[in-house]
Amino acid sequence: MVRDTKNKQPINKRYDKELLEDLCIALRNVGVFDYDLIYKDTYELEHIEEVKKIHNELMLRNIDLSPRIKKLSDETKWRMEELLSECLQYPEVLPLVKDEDGIRRRLRCSLCNKGEYRVDDQKFLVCKQCLTEIKNAILSKKPIENVLLFKTYNTEVWCEHSDCDTLLAMLMDKEYSEVWSEAFCIQCIEEELIK
Ligand SMILES: [Zn+2]
Ligand SMILES: [Zn+2]
Repeated sequence: MVRDTKNKQPINKRYDKELLEDLCIALRNVGVFDYDLIYKDTYELEHIEEVKKIHNELMLRNIDLSPRIKKLSDETKWRMEELLSECLQYPEVLPLVKDEDGIRRRLRCSLCNKGEYRVDDQKFLVCKQCLTEIKNAILSKKPIENVLLFKTYNTEVWCEHSDCDTLLAMLMDKEYSEVWSEAFCIQCIEEELIK
C-alpha cells in the first residue's frame, strides 16, 4: 500500500491525528517493502526515516501511540509495535516485519512454514530443521515432500561442488511445478548448518 506523501505539510505542521495516520502508512510501507531491505534499497530506507521523523515529532507532542499501533497490528495481522521499535533502532537492528505468530515474514521457511532461514541466505530458503531433513533425504536417497532429488548433466544447475554424479536437492512445489530454490548438495547443506 503506497500512498502519495508528496504535497504534504512539513511534519511539524501536521495535526496530531493526521500524523498518527502518516506513521501508520510509513510503517505499512516498511512492512511491504522489507524484502528489499537487505539490499539497502533507498526507497525502503526512506520509509524507515519517515517512521523515525514522525515518531520523534509525536514524542515531542506527548502523544500516546499505543492504541493506534495496536489497531494497525489488528488491521495488518503484523506485529507493528515490534516493527516500530525496530525502525527506531535501525541501523543497529534490521526492521523485518513479523506475522502474528512471530515469524519474520521475509524469512519464513518455504518448506515447513513455521521456521525462519538466515537473513542473508538466498540459496536454501528453509529453516535449519528442514535443511537437516533434506540432508537426511539425500543420505537415504528418499525424497520428501516438495524436495526434488536428482542428478543432472546440466552444468548450469550444478552447485560449486557438483559433477554429474552428485545427488542434488531443490525445493519444488510439485503441484505447480514451481521451483523455489537453487540446487544444492550435501556439502552445501553442511556448510550452511554450521553458520
Ligand atoms: Zn522449515
Ligand atoms: Zn554443493
